[in-house]
Amino acid sequence: MCAMPTMTLSKGAVDFINDEKLTSLIENTREDASRVREVLAKSMEKKALQVEETAVLLAAENPELVEEIFECARELKRKVYGNRIVLFAPLYIGNDCVNDCKYCAFRHSNKDAVRRTLTDAEIVQQVEALENVGHKRLILVYGEHPKYDAEYIAHTVRKVYETKVGRGEIRRVNINAAPMDHAGYRLVKEAGIGTYQIFQETYHHATYANYHPKGTRKGDFMWRLDGLSRAFEAECDDMGIGALFGLHDWRFEVLSLVTHSLHLQQRYNVGPHTISFPRLQPAHMVNLDQKWLVSDYNFKRLVAILRLSVPYTGMILTARESPKLRREIMSFGVSQIDAGSRIEIGGYTEAGDTQCMEREQFALGDIRSLDEVMRELLQDNYIPSFCTACYRLGRTGEHFMEFAIPGFIQNFCTPNALTTLEEYLVDYASPETRTVGEKIIARELAGIKDEKIKAEAADRLRRIKETDDRDLIF
Ligand code: SF4
Repeated sequence: MCAMPTMTLSKGAVDFINDEKLTSLIENTREDASRVREVLAKSMEKKALQVEETAVLLAAENPELVEEIFECARELKRKVYGNRIVLFAPLYIGNDCVNDCKYCAFRHSNKDAVRRTLTDAEIVQQVEALENVGHKRLILVYGEHPKYDAEYIAHTVRKVYETKVGRGEIRRVNINAAPMDHAGYRLVKEAGIGTYQIFQETYHHATYANYHPKGTRKGDFMWRLDGLSRAFEAECDDMGIGALFGLHDWRFEVLSLVTHSLHLQQRYNVGPHTISFPRLQPAHMVNLDQKWLVSDYNFKRLVAILRLSVPYTGMILTARESPKLRREIMSFGVSQIDAGSRIEIGGYTEAGDTQCMEREQFALGDIRSLDEVMRELLQDNYIPSFCTACYRLGRTGEHFMEFAIPGFIQNFCTPNALTTLEEYLVDYASPETRTVGEKIIARELAGIKDEKIKAEAADRLRRIKETDDRDLIF
């Protein structure tokens, strides 16, 4: 019997989104170049911004000022994340859903949607297909339905971790699923999840009520807003927040994401592990309201301004966007992307070169293979990484902030990125990708200042090339 969550909120749960205050900040914050430069200076010291300061950056419309914001976002990205880009893939487990979100092809009332839930054998098949191209990090995605309760989700997480083919294995499993009660979060935590991701979709109360019908589970704004607070209280470590850009004013959603980050930081002494900023995309049997759709230019501004507002939060750019735009925006502060993604249920073994909209929640903009994306990142001088070291060594939640310690990136993140990249090049890459990848590794290895770390990293890279040794983390 599937357990219904008890609707108990977190201790001291509060609705921290004040629509009037945020709307007034948008309407009344005037463009002020010197104020913008003051705020940028604070960001460049890697200090988190207050919501009023983020509003100052949002009010900047003058193209030269916006270019200054872009340049500072690039610089801050380099300072905090270096040139690493972490890779993952989404795996949709099931699309039954009791909700009726108006922007979603999987909504309950869409009778045309092809409904399916992977069997255990099919989960193994999909995971093996992902491992056979080199993936090490997955996010599992579920509709909201009693059959996808905490026990079932924990079971699927274990199924993914126990699936290994050749030198392939999944080392970190993140979750994008409905909010749970405390007991539910404890269950999935025990199964070894990494990040628990819940998108508020829109933080604007009236818009939320318009898109999420009353009486559906997702119609409860506060249950969702409080979702990750309950997860923290159930001792889950890493949280992922996000908004679906295009439902309401993008500036309102940016201010709300910053408010949410500060709220979690204040209450649990650690902000979100990641922020996602998906843009509304065409979906099967969905008529989109065009009013708040975000232009490519404003999308670049929102990514740069989020980067500057939450310096230590990972930023996820997904394959919703086109290859061209992803390539352009990467430098503005993105730290994680998916690649080689298919979101049709069973898509990693069944989907051909074209997308099947009836089987997708929304249309993807980028369905290139993992190897194509890897090669482009390497050609753009990024270090593609499959690192999962912090998560598996317990450097999670507030312990993750060691990140901020000078030299941590040089001594841990870069060598770990290089060993996971070498594994990919030796075990899965095309000859063209391996050629450009080995050049990047040689350059980055030479750049490691600590001679002891450099020697140890060089030895581990040699072992990956010459032996079966794998998973050599710092
Ligand atoms: S967005 Fe999620 S909860 Fe809403 S209908 Fe789609 S699958 Fe269900």
